[in-house]
Amino acid sequence: MCFCCAPASLGRRGLFAAAAAVAALPAWGQTPPASAGPASAALLDDLVAANRILYDQGVVDGFGHVSVRHDTDPNRYLLSRSMAPALVTRDDILEYDLDSVPVDALGRTSYLERFIHGELYKVRPDVIAIVHSHSPAVIPFADTGVKLQPMNHIAGFLGTGVPVFEIRDTAGPATDMLIRNASLGHALAAALGDHTVILMRGHGSVAAARSIRHVVFRAVYTEVNARMEAEALKLGTPIFLNAEEAAAAAKTNDALVDRPWELWKQRAMGKG
Ligand SMILES: [Zn+2]
Repeated sequence: MCFCCAPASLGRRGLFAAAAAVAALPAWGQTPPASAGPASAALLDDLVAANRILYDQGVVDGFGHVSVRHDTDPNRYLLSRSMAPALVTRDDILEYDLDSVPVDALGRTSYLERFIHGELYKVRPDVIAIVHSHSPAVIPFADTGVKLQPMNHIAGFLGTGVPVFEIRDTAGPATDMLIRNASLGHALAAALGDHTVILMRGHGSVAAARSIRHVVFRAVYTEVNARMEAEALKLGTPIFLNAEEAAAAAKTNDALVDRPWELWKQRAMGKG
């Protein structure tokens, strides 16, 4: 099923009436949430660039999404309408409340998995931006139980541990694997805890950070680290960064995210 194209119709809500998702959408005739007003042009530009960069760097393809909290209201977030990230423009950005109800969709469809974003923003006030992807090198670690661990200093942010979300524990053995309601989003956010990245068995991953640039950095280097680790495991037993090395490296790198951002942005936007 193509969830980028599938409309988040009100009819679908009935399928999940037992879940907390019911609270995430207004009933017929209810007023949608009020807007926080326009977000800054700089924030919107960064969000568009993030969509393009994540595609250009091989983190997202036709699927996957990136969001950011509204810069004047932490109870709102910004996310593209349901479409391929590489094609996102400013006009495609929608505003949502934390129940993942769009403020004014104007008939545009929403990502089915937007609850990943709203439910995580609810429980992690430190998180300002989120990437969800199905980046290919990461998923084998979600599916095998082999731990994803920091191979080099650039991925020091992985040093606090990378949990794996097992959807069967929350929703049983017969889902389509998607985080398509608030209860699943809440369970995923709880499994992430205080970590920076979580893997989703049979599905993908989520990265969280304090800004768009930081979360793009983490999403890109989670994929790079997964490739490195898979290669290292073929050669022998890798020596990973220990917790102290990883924390120190992450602190250093957090101050340097603008450098790759500018490079990636120029490359990705040049292709637009
Ligand atoms: Zn997904």
